[in-house]
Amino acid sequence: MPIDRWMDAANSHYYATRDPLGTSGDFTTAPEISQMFGELAGLWLADLWDRTGRPPAAYVELGPGRGTLAVDALRAMRTAGLVPFVHLVETSPALRAAQAERLPGAHWHTDVTTLPADCALLVVANEFFDALPITQAIRTVDGWRERVVIDNDGEFAFAIGDPVAGPKNAPDAAIVENRPVAGAILSALAPRIACQGGSLLTIDYGYPGPAFGDTLQAVRAHRFVDPLVTPGDTDLTAHVDFTALAAAAAPLVASGPVDQGEWLLRLGIATRAAALARATPDQGETIAAAYRRLTAPDAMGHLFKVLALTAPSWPEPAGLRG
Ligand code: SAH
Repeated sequence: MPIDRWMDAANSHYYATRDPLGTSGDFTTAPEISQMFGELAGLWLADLWDRTGRPPAAYVELGPGRGTLAVDALRAMRTAGLVPFVHLVETSPALRAAQAERLPGAHWHTDVTTLPADCALLVVANEFFDALPITQAIRTVDGWRERVVIDNDGEFAFAIGDPVAGPKNAPDAAIVENRPVAGAILSALAPRIACQGGSLLTIDYGYPGPAFGDTLQAVRAHRFVDPLVTPGDTDLTAHVDFTALAAAAAPLVASGPVDQGEWLLRLGIATRAAALARATPDQGETIAAAYRRLTAPDAMGHLFKVLALTAPSWPEPAGLRG
């Protein structure tokens, strides 16, 4: 079976059956590290909304996990005078239940097509696109072929499938990845944002494509494991091609990608960390550690990138130039 169908089946089971986040789970995301992350995302949205003339707006999150980012972002937005309706796009019943406990007034959607059509859309997607299934093509002596997963007497293995299209100049055994579901989501969402106003703030690990390489990875209990072993019980992801996201989101205007650390520093995370440390001195070390983890180039600061896709009629968002 093509890798995207296999990954879709594995991840649907994985997310539907657990809350994978946090120290007792499989992985930890930026909003779970510190409230500073969601607060700055919220203020980034509120600033953009304010400079646009404060139109009616909905806060939308794609794959909100435990709802932590939304809670922190909404609290920060309120201090800036922005109190939007909350619309969450989430397929996992387990995570919907976790979100409902913390965001009682929210509305849930299975996909982006049912989002409100009568207001600006302030959309956040943190570590969302990486969880969407990818296809892989591999350059063989017979040209480009789809990479597939086969069941070898109860053990999964990679194999070569049917001929597919691929770039002309590529070394032998080169691999290219595509994410058709991300393209489909963006081609449904981008025209809405372009017409209704708003922006999509994406934070994820990835690269500005095109590039060669196999980035499929599996994580369990905070360690990398073999993606082919126990699919559906590990967090299967692949790096995000930001160039491909921006291309699929035409006519939205792309800002970035910029390193997460750089973006947070430009938005004032140092000031926020200092204020939190003053208010809760016993938390000083925890706050300093979170600040470092979110911003340092050898932690999340460089690997994670920030890309905004904004309605052409809206102003330029903060912190994403160059
Ligand atoms: N944004 C959160 C969680 C990231 S994990 C955080 O940063 O902590 C990925 C999230 O995307 C989970 O909530 C998962 O259930 C959701 N998800 C995965 N595939 C999805 C899909 N196709 N549609 C909607 N949500 C999806």
